Amino acid sequence: MPERAFLRTRYRAIPGKRDGEDHWIGGEPYHKGAICPTCRIPLLQLWDINCHDRRFPRRRFGPLERLPLYFCWSCVSELCYTFTGPARVRVRALVKRESGQFPYEPYPSRLERKPLSLAAGVPDSIRKIVKDWVDSGSFRPGDLTMEARKALERFFGHRVKSTFCLVHHQVGGPPLGPWSGTIVLCPNAACRSHRRPMRFLAGILNDPWRGLPFAEPADEETLTNPNLFVTLQYHICSDCWSIMACNSCD
Ligand SMILES: [Zn+2]
Ligand SMILES: [Zn+2]
Repeated sequence: MPERAFLRTRYRAIPGKRDGEDHWIGGEPYHKGAICPTCRIPLLQLWDINCHDRRFPRRRFGPLERLPLYFCWSCVSELCYTFTGPARVRVRALVKRESGQFPYEPYPSRLERKPLSLAAGVPDSIRKIVKDWVDSGSFRPGDLTMEARKALERFFGHRVKSTFCLVHHQVGGPPLGPWSGTIVLCPNAACRSHRRPMRFLAGILNDPWRGLPFAEPADEETLTNPNLFVTLQYHICSDCWSIMACNSCD
């Protein structure tokens, strides 16, 4: 069953670019209580989404003004957080993992604040290249023309080595890539949608070159071995406004 998207329109998120809609990478967390329950250190605010982007359906985010996407990259535990007030959040670790997994020294107290722009839709030319490639059953870029491969790389924002590379930083739309189809259930026992599917909200790739360092250091990436397939997948419950953050890798 395809996963249901919280926003119907798919937006490609482009780190470092400004679109006038007040979306950001990094910065200080907004909420008291944005602390990892396993490591007892502040969560990293990866993205800070403006819920009043003029392209989003009005009031789609209910009471939320801004939507921070938090995670702890020390323990990479699966987290669920629920907004309990404009400046408060309650965080639970659903799958706990050990601290100390961040590959960079020192562990950052926050990520550098940079603009983030959202670009709606997928051009027909890109859809056609992707469809033809996937339909051919090939995983290899050698089956693409150089022109087609360059067009994909410009669109996705990273090197394209195989069809597993057809993922990008994403807000809205169904999830791309090998993680599509994962069903995440609302874990909040006080919610009327408890144990019902949450909706896919966003996916963030490991992208050390553009301020999102999640896996091995950027200078250990090589042309033939890019480290792109570590992603965070965010789901949302529109009854209790809980957010679930899960880490996936290929
Ligand atoms: Zn932690
Ligand atoms: Zn819920």
